[in-house]
Amino acid sequence: VLTYFSTILGMILLVWLLLYIGVTAFFVKKKFQKDLLESAANSRTTGVLADAVTNVLNVKMFASQAREFSYFADATDIEEKRRRDAWYFQNLQFMFQGYFIAIFELVGIFAAVSLWLNGSISAGTIVLMQIYIFTSFEVGWNIGRNFTRVMRAFAEAKEMVDIFEKPIAVSDPKQPEECRIRKGEIEIKQISFTYGKGSKVFRDFSLRVKAGEKVGLVGPSGSGKSTITKLLLRFADVQSGEILIDGQNIAHIRQNDLRSQIAYVPQDPILFHRTLIENIRYARPDAADKDVIRAAKLAHADEFISLFPQGYDTLVGERGIKLSGGERQRVAIARAILKDAPILALDEATSSLDSESEMYIQDALAKLMKKRTTIVIAHRLSTIMQMDRIVVIEGGRIVEQGKHKELLKVKQGRYQKLWEIQAGGFATA
Ligand code: ADP
Ligand code: MG
Repeated sequence: VLTYFSTILGMILLVWLLLYIGVTAFFVKKKFQKDLLESAANSRTTGVLADAVTNVLNVKMFASQAREFSYFADATDIEEKRRRDAWYFQNLQFMFQGYFIAIFELVGIFAAVSLWLNGSISAGTIVLMQIYIFTSFEVGWNIGRNFTRVMRAFAEAKEMVDIFEKPIAVSDPKQPEECRIRKGEIEIKQISFTYGKGSKVFRDFSLRVKAGEKVGLVGPSGSGKSTITKLLLRFADVQSGEILIDGQNIAHIRQNDLRSQIAYVPQDPILFHRTLIENIRYARPDAADKDVIRAAKLAHADEFISLFPQGYDTLVGERGIKLSGGERQRVAIARAILKDAPILALDEATSSLDSESEMYIQDALAKLMKKRTTIVIAHRLSTIMQMDRIVVIEGGRIVEQGKHKELLKVKQGRYQKLWEIQAGGFATA
């Protein structure tokens, strides 16, 4: 419209607008980089804080409050610097935009008045121009501000979007097969497995566990025992080879179907911050109270639970922090008993128990193992000497296997050596 009344003024406004947009785009782009840095620093601060809080025992134990304080201060310093940097830059942007507007106002008025003086335009056009100028300022200013804000929101969202975009490591098959796990025959066939970019845990590893067989796994820590149970539950997928249960590849069925057929007691069980009865019942939500209590009795958990003033209604604290390691393990075993699945996997399930409680639980576990396929990982060889077969694993390979008595006869055998160390330890103690 302005060009219609005065080509020169219209052109000035157009050139100014283009310049203004160019400058704003430049600032917004630069600021985005700074916002990204700031939001990364912000995440790090939160991370450092959370890490320090979860490690509060370590902080006390090593009297390292001052060290932690300065470590956290370093993180907040970086965040402060980056935030300040982003803010200053934004102010610089506003300043530039302000100058731009002021210069334009001067140039525009000067041009308009000159044109009016030599009679090219009327006073009305000057007023018209003023109106357009102010409108452009306002729109330009707001667009600049909002763009900055939108980009800032993008910067903050980026980390979350990056997480969303990570491919899901273990997913259900598109057309899952009907789960046919009944007896629980396990066949691990020439699997290779590596955690992330780490070193190989298994290469061409095979292990067959017949339905109803009880297998004990022993071996030095880091040899891959826990990894076998994780792969069996499909917490991770093998890179090659396959794992079959009752002839069915576990990758071909739904994860939930698979896991509902395996009772698993992990190395370090974690509980919900709920009551004990809720925690045990978690294995089978529709279980009646008397069944839950029966399972707790079998797992010898009832003994310590009944000592609490609130018994089964006692809250266990976050992650089960209010229970001792052995108590948590007994709750986890009670869960496994209640779950009543055809396959049982115990990963150092009794490692935190004293020998006496363990002896009692062995009894319960022996009953539980009846007619179930069982994999038991244990350091204490007394725990697994009754197994149908003992498999010694080292560096992701089976180095020996057989019954307790057979393995003891192997000259210079690994198992024999382990046994001697443990038995010797008991003898001299
Ligand atoms: P263990 O026989 O003591 O149960 P694991 O099966 O837990 O041994 O571990 C086998 C190897 O895999 C170890 O070298 C360990 O460092 C590595 N490992 C275990 N869990 C992970 C993980 N989540 N990410 C990366 N590496 C892991
Ligand atoms: Mg382990």
